[in-house]
Amino acid sequence: MHPLLLDLPPEAWDLGPEPDYRRKQVAEWLYHKRAASVAEMTNLPAALRRKLDATYDLAALKLAKLQGSHDTTRKLLWELRSGDYIESVLIPASPDLFGERSDRFTLCLSTQVGCAYGCKFCASGLEGFKRNLTPGEIVAQIVETERHTKTRINNLVFMGMGEPLANYANLLQALAIINAPWGLGLGARHITVSTSGLAPQIRLLAEQPLQIRLALSLHGASDDVRLKIMPVNRKYPLAELLDACAEYQEKKRKMMTLEYILIDGVNDSLDQATLLVKHARRLHAKVNLIPYNTVDGLDWRRPSDFVIDRFAAVLHAAKITATVRREKGHDIDAACGQLRLKQLKAAA
Ligand code: SF4
Repeated sequence: MHPLLLDLPPEAWDLGPEPDYRRKQVAEWLYHKRAASVAEMTNLPAALRRKLDATYDLAALKLAKLQGSHDTTRKLLWELRSGDYIESVLIPASPDLFGERSDRFTLCLSTQVGCAYGCKFCASGLEGFKRNLTPGEIVAQIVETERHTKTRINNLVFMGMGEPLANYANLLQALAIINAPWGLGLGARHITVSTSGLAPQIRLLAEQPLQIRLALSLHGASDDVRLKIMPVNRKYPLAELLDACAEYQEKKRKMMTLEYILIDGVNDSLDQATLLVKHARRLHAKVNLIPYNTVDGLDWRRPSDFVIDRFAAVLHAAKITATVRREKGHDIDAACGQLRLKQLKAAA
């Protein structure tokens, strides 16, 4: 196994005695023309192509399974060079109010194999943490998804398997490639990082010049309720976490998102709704309410429509922007980590 070309920035590539403009050409083949092999890089001299082939690997991932559902959400299971599996989910924008389909395609990306954070609703946490993805393995999910689905992705959400901020250095390197004009050239305002709530890394991200959007998996509006769902709350309780988010909001001046999975009898009370209003107001955040998706092996339930609507009404009455997200791709196990979990169980 050679080093992965996508793991390195162009200035670190070993191109032998070739002039510097070759770096731009190679980057163009990789990120603009989405070349799948060095052989396709036809404007490079044969000696350089041989050198690249002998020094680096190009393919970070192999498509193991592609599932699509009738609402055209597609789920991609990837096999890494290490033999591990990760997944990405491609979500088309819903038809708008006039029934027009927008051309926005969002890719939900993984950043780790497994996850150490053990959020109680999540399949990724069930098998524990295995390893961090490299920058190239993160970026390759975008390039390979475009190749296999013939779709141009214009929106990214780091919300797949793993806690992105726990793989902070590799995430930043991947973001640099994604954002750079020589890379994928995707504007930071089309990129959202979703975290379970690592307060110190939220502060670090706030110092970065990139205007990345932040989404926080809140799921409980008080420490006692959040702790039932998010073990990370023990390490970073709400007061500390919300302070870090307020700092992010202050520095970036971007509307952040609070994700809130509604679980029957656990976090769907009117008291929680009232506290959520307080947090959303302080952070100038919008709220995504996500009725719980059943996960094999977990026994929580989705609240009734009456309870969901009653919870949302508290937010709306307080003029908080809140949407109830009827989960897309429910029928293809698009909740994070479920497809990989099935693959692991099948292989066991
Ligand atoms: S929700 Fe995210 S942080 Fe929590 S266990 Fe799942 S993958 Fe990890």
